[in-house]
Order: sequence, then C-alpha cells, then structure tokens
Amino acid sequence: MPQAGVHAIVGVASRKWMPKKEWLLLGIVLGNLVPDLDNIAVAVATVTKSSTDGLHRTFTHSLFTILAIVLLFYLISLATKNARWGNFGVGLGIGILLHVLLDLLLWFNGVELFWPIRYELNFWNWFVMPSWLGILLKTAEFLAFGLYFSLLASMAGRQKTNEDYVPKLRGWANIQFALFLLFTVLFFFPQAGVDTIYGALYLLALFFSIGVTLRMMQTIEQPINQ
Ligand SMILES: [Zn+2]
Repeated sequence: MPQAGVHAIVGVASRKWMPKKEWLLLGIVLGNLVPDLDNIAVAVATVTKSSTDGLHRTFTHSLFTILAIVLLFYLISLATKNARWGNFGVGLGIGILLHVLLDLLLWFNGVELFWPIRYELNFWNWFVMPSWLGILLKTAEFLAFGLYFSLLASMAGRQKTNEDYVPKLRGWANIQFALFLLFTVLFFFPQAGVDTIYGALYLLALFFSIGVTLRMMQTIEQPINQ
C-alpha cells in the first residue's frame, strides 16, 4: 500500500477523466480507501496473537471482490430503482482497481490479485527495505491523510462547496501533520508500545478519512469547470 491518503488523492485526481454520473466519484474515492481496511483484520489477529498470514492485500484487493461489489450494487440499484447505487458500485470497483494497481507499482510488497486463489503478484521481490525507509513509509500515512484533507479543503474553498466544514477540516489536517512528525521521532527512538499506539491511531484516521469523504461528498462530486 502506498499510504491510504495517497490512494484517496489519486481517486480525487481521477475525476478529470471520469464520466459525470451521480455518486460515481464518491464511489471511486471510497473504493481507493476501503481496501486497506483489511488492516483491521491484521490488528485483530495481532492482538489475539493469531497468524496474520493471508490477511493484508488479499480479500479486499482481489479482482473477484471487485466483481462481487459491482454486481451487488447493481442489484441494489435494481431493487431500489435508484440508478445512483449502480454508479456508486461501478465507482467502488474502479476505485479498488486503481488502489490495487498503485499498490502493485508503488509499494514493496505483493498483492493477491486473484484471491481466494492464493497467488501473490509482486514486482518488488528483489527489494530489501532499509529500516529508516520502513519507518518513514509508515508515519507518512499521517502525512498523506493530512494532504488529502488539505486537498479537499482547498477544492471546497475554490468551488464554494461544503464551506461550513473547511475550517474544521484544515484543523484535522494539521493534527495529521503533527502526528506524522511525532511518530517519525518516536519510531526513530523506539519505545515499547509505540507500534500499538501507531496502529490504533492509523486505523482511527482511516475510518475518519472515510467519514470525511462522505462529509465532503458535494465537493468531490462537483463537476470541474473546464
Ligand atoms: Zn492496499
């Protein structure tokens, strides 16, 4: 995984090329964020001291999951006679696909693209991660959340959408930047328990960023003036 915030930014950036359909872009941005929720399973396994094998970059990063999700939302759109659910499902599918492609290209681990068929595609087998880089890539999760929130805040300012939430969002962005600095220092002077606190705050920030995405829906969905 490149950082979850980077995925979200890619989702927002893709709006230049996406057709203007209601809820499609919202789906794309959320689709970019949700695959790394599999870290919840990793966290539960870690806490209960069971194996974390096959939990990250597997079931939420699979082409079969994408197909199932698109199909599910298509059925929901038929049942509710609301085409926007279908757009949302297609958006989620596109978003997860973008997420997986970026994971394959920009990260140093593999992805089980065809889960439940256990085959890991990995372009990075040759790479040995220096520990300082491992630390920076982890703490940069907070940096990327901060950048994502800042991007939404400046888009909202420009477009005059969700204006009521912009000051708060800038505040949340600053908190993420502060966490980035704090944990970069903490990891370089390791203390017991830092990893657990980091993991908990990361998951919290990931949930929060999904909430922010929904809160800023109007901003994300606003067509770009060309
Ligand atoms: Zn991922």
